[in-house]
Amino acid sequence: MTLLSDILTYNKTFVANKEYEAYTATKVPAKKAVLVTCMDTRLQDLSTKALGFNNGDLKVVKNAGAMITHPYGSTMRSILVGIYALGAEEVIIMGHKDCGMGNIDVEKVMCTMASRGIDTKVFDLLQYSGIDVAHFLKGFDDVYDNVHHNIKLIYDHPLFDQNVPVHGLVIDPHTGELDLIHDGYTHNQIN
Ligand SMILES: [Zn+2]
Repeated sequence: MTLLSDILTYNKTFVANKEYEAYTATKVPAKKAVLVTCMDTRLQDLSTKALGFNNGDLKVVKNAGAMITHPYGSTMRSILVGIYALGAEEVIIMGHKDCGMGNIDVEKVMCTMASRGIDTKVFDLLQYSGIDVAHFLKGFDDVYDNVHHNIKLIYDHPLFDQNVPVHGLVIDPHTGELDLIHDGYTHNQIN
């Protein structure tokens, strides 16, 4: 059995037993917020449960490191669509302690790529095209700085509605304890 066959077998039973009824929700988030957080496995459920949210309460955007890497990339687009098309009225940026993107060994990752068949000349070719692979893979040095950076990028975005509060949090992936980094109700700018 493969993971995929397990999924498809399980799914037949799930649907037949109407287990989906426990997850009934609408496209509009009940708590009217977008949460941007990390794809870390420890946060799969903890990222919402530790904040008191249930299924249907939020738009959740996850990526490696809870990073907004580009003002016109998919994470920023998800935030804007959440606000302008799907009823979100607040944004929560939540990094976490002990994040893999905070101490990623970029050279090691590139060595692993090479060992799995990626021709190292590709790194040079991309460099000539303006893509520095090491920079592309790099995460951040400090999770608190990363959350601040994300919030500033959102506030500076020309398509962002400045009346929408953006909150900054850092979660402990073991206990779920939160550190408040930025209260979007009291400060709608960040330096
Ligand atoms: Zn992480």
